[in-house]
Amino acid sequence: MKTSILIIYTGGTIGMVKDPDNGSLKPFDFDHILKQVPELNDFGFELSSIAFDPLIDSSNLNPEVWIKIASLIKENYEKYDGFVVLHGTDTMSYSASALSFMLENLDKPVVLTGSQLPIGMLRTDGKENLITAIEIAADNKNGKALVPEVCVLFENKLFRGNRTTKHNAEYFNAFYSYNYPDLAKVGINIHYNHAVIRNHSEGMFSINTNLDTNIAILKIFPGINKQTVDAILNIEGLRAVVMETYGAGNAPTDAWFVDSIKEAIGRGVIVYNVTQCPSGSVDMGLYETSVELRNIGVVSGHDITTEAAIAKLMFLLGQELDSDKIKFFLNKSIKGELCQ
Ligand code: ASP
Repeated sequence: MKTSILIIYTGGTIGMVKDPDNGSLKPFDFDHILKQVPELNDFGFELSSIAFDPLIDSSNLNPEVWIKIASLIKENYEKYDGFVVLHGTDTMSYSASALSFMLENLDKPVVLTGSQLPIGMLRTDGKENLITAIEIAADNKNGKALVPEVCVLFENKLFRGNRTTKHNAEYFNAFYSYNYPDLAKVGINIHYNHAVIRNHSEGMFSINTNLDTNIAILKIFPGINKQTVDAILNIEGLRAVVMETYGAGNAPTDAWFVDSIKEAIGRGVIVYNVTQCPSGSVDMGLYETSVELRNIGVVSGHDITTEAAIAKLMFLLGQELDSDKIKFFLNKSIKGELCQ
């Protein structure tokens, strides 16, 4: 039987064309993509596609779209061997993170990709990315997928999706995974690093689409004032905040700052400590400037990215879990998003 792959086209630069009126890039239809890549026929795979209507620039994307992607994968799970999600680069890391939590017992590849240059342009990176993503989604050994997880393929690397960050708005290597090894390197051959790829899942595949968006980001900077901190921590309905701290999880020791955080935690707001450094980990207690945070109940995000922290909080808050259980899961890896 032929390997079958479903391509879910959500939008993004890969399929965009220039608006003749103002020169800006706008989404275009999937046939346009197919016309640019006749090589797809050479694969000998059964390729099907579903295109969003309307197509979305991923800067306009919201959790409803994650639910739509997850639902499409669920509806088609048994029919296909693998899934390729064509997606804008701007929020691809958020979507990959969210999907990693929402897809339960995933045992097939879900490969997100896109491009920096539209597929119709001469030096496009879209063609290579699409072709390689399809090849990875189809790769298997004795019928078992080689990469049974949500991942991001860009330029010549395959990453665990919930470890990625868009770190480059200019060059073709748009994504990077600072805290987790590449799942594969793409050259003449695709070299998989099997030791770091998730194990196969035995359970029944399902999706969990309950998400709660009552969260915020509090990014610490020198000179941040009480008004700003309190404004964020007192947002109506706020249930959790990703606190982006310095280095190994450090923040000012000013009494007003610690008191504001402590007061919010006392009201039940979960404060999740994520470092502003792309690489490395939160280690509360290493410096005097984080000891108090640990003492008042700030939860460590270890080496998680902000993108994954946002998705993980939305996911966990959407489940019927008490606060202690949520904090327990925040502290440890659920889908390989942090080292703990
Ligand atoms: N704004 C585009 C998007 O995220 C950028 C891209 O695809 O590279 O949809």
